[in-house]
Amino acid sequence: MSRPILARIDPQAFRHNYLHAKQRAPGARAWAVVKANAYGHGLLTCAEAVRDVADGFALLEVSEAMRLRAAGFTQPILMLEGFFTENDLCLAAAHQISTVIHCDEQVRMLELAELSQPLAVFIKLNTGMNRLGFPLEQSNAVLARLQASGKLGQVGLMTHFAEADGQGIAEPLAQFEAVSRLAGVPRSAANSAALIRNPEAHYDWVRPGIMLYGGSPMPALHSASALGLRPVMSLASEIIGVQGLRAGDRVGYSGTFTADRPMRVGTVACGYADGYPRHAGTGTPILVNGQRTRTLGRVSMDMLACDLTGIEADVGGRVTLWGEGLAADDVAAAAGTISYELFCALAPRVPVVMC
Ligand SMILES: *Cc1c(COP(=O)(O)O)cnc(C)c1O
Repeated sequence: MSRPILARIDPQAFRHNYLHAKQRAPGARAWAVVKANAYGHGLLTCAEAVRDVADGFALLEVSEAMRLRAAGFTQPILMLEGFFTENDLCLAAAHQISTVIHCDEQVRMLELAELSQPLAVFIKLNTGMNRLGFPLEQSNAVLARLQASGKLGQVGLMTHFAEADGQGIAEPLAQFEAVSRLAGVPRSAANSAALIRNPEAHYDWVRPGIMLYGGSPMPALHSASALGLRPVMSLASEIIGVQGLRAGDRVGYSGTFTADRPMRVGTVACGYADGYPRHAGTGTPILVNGQRTRTLGRVSMDMLACDLTGIEADVGGRVTLWGEGLAADDVAAAAGTISYELFCALAPRVPVVMC
């Protein structure tokens, strides 16, 4: 018998969320951001779910882009960090994969490369994230230099906001607008947060990621369900042991939780080696047989404890760690992180099924 832990992926929910993102950005085309194996959900599972409706896909590695091409996807595919080697660059051109260009080294590599086909690129401009991208004032020069290389198909301009989910994007958006307005090329700026909050930043292509997976890009302001998003991943397991505690008994490594009265405690087959966050302390929400309760004590490698006091459940009781009925955002908040990290951290040892 195998451990009862299981991740269920709901492709229809992914499709719903993609179409929902499209509805919120009616004038724009939308790259479905499927980097990091579709935020841990499975690249091909998610891509298949939107095969007939997706305008395009955005990811990191040329190898992942080629997996999509090999599976028959003909839409534009954008490499969000651009190419890392000349080999990446040649493969991208040969397979009609678009690429970001964010630094001089990439421009030089492109100028020297022998490409079999014209390459579509988006020049990335730095509007204050200070991660990747050319300084804004170099925008025209880079654009001119790339257009002069004679190796390109479509050239566009893009940026990525540091605070679309928080303080806002007024200043970086104004800067991007000022340098890109007269260029007359396609533009892209919005991640999920800006797609939802800033219609003025939609431009020609939006880049929704987390919202496609049913995570809220700003959980402190709006829950995913209030935004009309459906969970795509549900992490489920079972109760594999039950303990009766007396007042004063403690739970788990270091005994960080102490019962102040008699309690029933359930042991769940899920731990940090499955991707459950170890920083989720006592009180993290969890569902047992559909009833909301809380975790107790430290998460261990393969197990965690939950409060069954007043809950109808025994060994074999069904547990939802996050997903249908329990927002991943709520679990993430209790662990001091974001749903993105929970999804991406799902461990390879957890079996994944489609539902
Ligand atoms: C990951 C990523 C996105 C998607 O961001 P979400 O917050 O998940 O919507 C968009 N653009 C770039 C450049 C990214 O790296």
